[in-house]
Amino acid sequence: MKTAILADLLDFTGDPGLADRQSAHVRWRPAHWLLIDECGRIAAVQPDAPGDDWHKLDHSGQLLMPGFIDTHVHSPQVDVIASWGTELLDWLNTYTFPAEARHADPAVAQTAADLFTDALLAHGSTSAVVFPTVHVTSTEALFGAARQRGMRLIAGKVLMDRHAPDNLRDDVAGAESHCTALIERWHGQGRLAYAVTPRFAATSTDEQLAMAGRLVARHPGVYMQTHVAENRAEVAWIAELFPQARSYLDVYARHGLLNERAVLAHGIWLDAADRQVLADTGAQIAFCPSSNLFLGSGLFGWAQAAAAGVAVSMASDVGGGTSLSMLRTLADAYKVQAMAGQRLTAWALLHAATRGAAQALQLGSEIGTLNPGAMADLCLWDVAVGPVAQRRDALARELHERLFAWVTLGDERNLRTCWVGGVQRYARP
Ligand SMILES: [Zn+2]
Repeated sequence: MKTAILADLLDFTGDPGLADRQSAHVRWRPAHWLLIDECGRIAAVQPDAPGDDWHKLDHSGQLLMPGFIDTHVHSPQVDVIASWGTELLDWLNTYTFPAEARHADPAVAQTAADLFTDALLAHGSTSAVVFPTVHVTSTEALFGAARQRGMRLIAGKVLMDRHAPDNLRDDVAGAESHCTALIERWHGQGRLAYAVTPRFAATSTDEQLAMAGRLVARHPGVYMQTHVAENRAEVAWIAELFPQARSYLDVYARHGLLNERAVLAHGIWLDAADRQVLADTGAQIAFCPSSNLFLGSGLFGWAQAAAAGVAVSMASDVGGGTSLSMLRTLADAYKVQAMAGQRLTAWALLHAATRGAAQALQLGSEIGTLNPGAMADLCLWDVAVGPVAQRRDALARELHERLFAWVTLGDERNLRTCWVGGVQRYARP
């Protein structure tokens, strides 16, 4: 049956910039009906109630937005979220690699994939760009769980053929044939897409990075995801491992891994030449403020990236990040940028987590928007939960003030309902 939802609708018609509270690209439609057709797509948005052939849901006074898009997150790392006391390279060896090794077991991989995809939806993220583990089992389980839930998910088997424990290393030939089989099986199946996934330059040999570049060239439309310039010790190590490269980013550029479907997490320690390469190739930076703060990695320069024309999206980077909630991630992003004197609007933050990410992923007509024709991946939010947030909300004088307080004070407890392709996939108990 066709569904119509009455709520306060918010989305974006363009990039609102970083600091413009009055941006004309903010589309606020209070007390509007959003109509979902039989195929799970948005049919229309209108002020008047539709006819009797629509199943009507009255959520007056609640906020309806496109589901969030988390552009960098690790499905097996739910098990190591909130692990104490390390920086990136120690954190990998101490916590992450042992946890990821367990995903060779198909039963572990399946349980983790179900838990992870349900958790994404329960936090208001309807789409994600995800690292499983080096294991085919883990990749299969993740794709299967996303397909079952109808989610737009981009993922791929992690590539690591050096500087990792024995039980997490692959090799060039084996990885190439596994990736090719996974691409044939999953890429373009429903709403799934494959991403060629070298973990980071340190854990792949030149030969494996060259193989990754071949996969990208051979399969137009696949994505590429990796990490870049997250931590200073890591950057120094990459310089030792790849003395011929101009920079960390240049390692990927040399292997043909940068294009408009490339998602690079972090990008904290980049220079102007790197930013120009990102802008020229259309590769995006997934900004992971919670992770960057938690691991003490550094403060990403969003204003410099934006000035250079680099696309920036938002990511939880769980388990380096400490929450799957994009609201908490956005609140951390505000604070990180405030350290550089840049005050981001709620619009800048929310845009980056919806339309901005969708555009950067070349999926702008499918997700991140309430435009007719887009998939009905939607989240319904309470703007204020609890006495402090409710008091603050009652005192807010205009829309930006209200929604900035929501972004800053809110989390997954504000989420009421989540629909994926028009199907309800989460409802707050
Ligand atoms: Zn990561």
